[in-house]
Amino acid sequence: MKTITLRAGKERSLLRRHPWVFQGSIAKGGADAGETVRVESHDGKFLAWAAFSPSSQIRVRAWSFDEAERIDAAFFQRRVEQAVALRRRLGIDSNGIRLIHGEADGLPGLIVDQYDDLLSAQFLSAGTERWKDAIADALLAATGCTYLYERSDSGVRGLEGLAPVTGWLRHPETADGSRRATEVTIHENGWKLTLDVAEGHKTGYYLDQRDNRGLFARLVREMGCKTVLNCYSYTGGFSVAALAGGATEVTSVDSSGPALARATAHVTLNGFDAGAHTALDADVNGTLRRFIKEGRTFDAIVLDPPKFAPSAAHADRASRAYKDINRLAFKLLNPGGLLLTFSCSGGIGAELFHKIVAGAGLDAQVDGYLLRRLEATPDHPTTITFPEGEYLKGLAIVRKG
Ligand code: SAH
Repeated sequence: MKTITLRAGKERSLLRRHPWVFQGSIAKGGADAGETVRVESHDGKFLAWAAFSPSSQIRVRAWSFDEAERIDAAFFQRRVEQAVALRRRLGIDSNGIRLIHGEADGLPGLIVDQYDDLLSAQFLSAGTERWKDAIADALLAATGCTYLYERSDSGVRGLEGLAPVTGWLRHPETADGSRRATEVTIHENGWKLTLDVAEGHKTGYYLDQRDNRGLFARLVREMGCKTVLNCYSYTGGFSVAALAGGATEVTSVDSSGPALARATAHVTLNGFDAGAHTALDADVNGTLRRFIKEGRTFDAIVLDPPKFAPSAAHADRASRAYKDINRLAFKLLNPGGLLLTFSCSGGIGAELFHKIVAGAGLDAQVDGYLLRRLEATPDHPTTITFPEGEYLKGLAIVRKG
């Protein structure tokens, strides 16, 4: 077993159970990609068992802070079982559930979503890549699923020196020799939603917004919103929510044609009138500006953009981008209208996001009531020692007037 020794004072973060060690904190030692190492303080005290990643800035990701624990297949079985057991206790009324949420579940770099009988996984760190087979076996054993699709095509794999990989990891042939398709239907808030684990974004769908989509349907109904603009709609989850809440004119805007095709299909799949929905394949910012010029307004608007700030280093430019779309959205909102606005940027904290949205309201000369602060669903937990895990934040605002 190779040992990594930290510089004096750099043991603090692991002692507080924060699972990362950056390159600059290491005094000596090295190992192969994904190899398990023993991490010690400068004076030789055990700190953690960890995975080494020679090409990443995050050089070490801790598996365990318990010196007695062995990092082997049984370890991954225990971690996976624990994560799945938590989800079972959360009473989630959907068959689309995040089972493993990386660091929060003690499995840094691993993301696994269950979509009905399919598992869809991202192995994003050298350590999870190394233990892929053991993890795959543990996932099937803990869930009873037989199908596991790998979507390790996220850009962050490049930072770990890993090439993208996609395809079936576990896929037994059916009795008649046919293959299970990569498309699956899940139910969420009483709606049917389809996705394709091979072609969708990330693992296929954005499960973190499940509760916010449910809340949106309720608020649209209670507040009597009829005209709804869903920006960055992806496959139209919030659009279906709006229709379920009684909206009569819903516009989905996204720059992905395949996502919009699925949004359109979701309208009729859920028994709504196809004529009540418009899909716009366009850039959101430009569309908001055009709508302002045309004098259009809406009773409710959703802004759920992609990550503008992957890290705190991008926070300045991202802040301006968030402020801009929120300012435009405020201008398009009818008095009494509802705005759900989100940021999924780890580099933008909840407090900063609130400030950005407040500034956007001031610029648009619109005041609003803050109804609620929003966050990811509980199957995307954070731990109390890893604040970086908190990425999705949002505000539900009602325009005064
Ligand atoms: N609200 C969605 C998830 C949104 S993910 C849900 O509930 O499922 C962000 C979406 O923004 C992606 O679908 C992506 O295609 C889209 N997107 C990214 N940049 C865009 C842009 N400039 N204009 C329009 N859509 C964009």
